[in-house]
Amino acid sequence: MENCIFCKIANGEIPSATVYEDANFRAILDIAPAAKGHVLLLPKAHIKNLTEADDAVLSAALPVVKRISGAIGKTLSCDGINVLQNNGEAAGQSVFHLHIHMIPRYVADGVTIPWETKSYEDGEAAELAEKIAENL
Ligand code: 5GP
Ligand code: ZN
Repeated sequence: MENCIFCKIANGEIPSATVYEDANFRAILDIAPAAKGHVLLLPKAHIKNLTEADDAVLSAALPVVKRISGAIGKTLSCDGINVLQNNGEAAGQSVFHLHIHMIPRYVADGVTIPWETKSYEDGEAAELAEKIAENL
């Protein structure tokens, strides 16, 4: 897609610090990392977000995420890794080409992915679960 920065990076038109590449994906270091070694996995084909993605692309992505996460852990000896994927502006998506974040984490590193917890009224969770299930 024209003027999509991640299309250009994924397809090598713009250089990037690449940690992995295959026929379908490129994984790069995030330019503004939450921690050093924060990686983004980009499909080479332009896909806006998770709900528009092809199942085949998604099936291929998770083993790559696993492999890269293992390599991040081995390289940085971090204590954990967040795998994140934002869909829509309200959810924090700022680049509208599907990407999966892998963020190295350390005990008490101060990186926050916070939310305030909510609660359900009696019976509300079961009702909502049923409604979501009806839309699968
Ligand atoms: P989002 O907020 O859409 O989930 O994540 C977009 C990510 O892409 C951000 O973490 C941002 O730092 C990163 N990013 C945006 N533009 C570039 C770029 O040109 N190069 C690289 N390597 N990362 C980028
Ligand atoms: Zn794109």
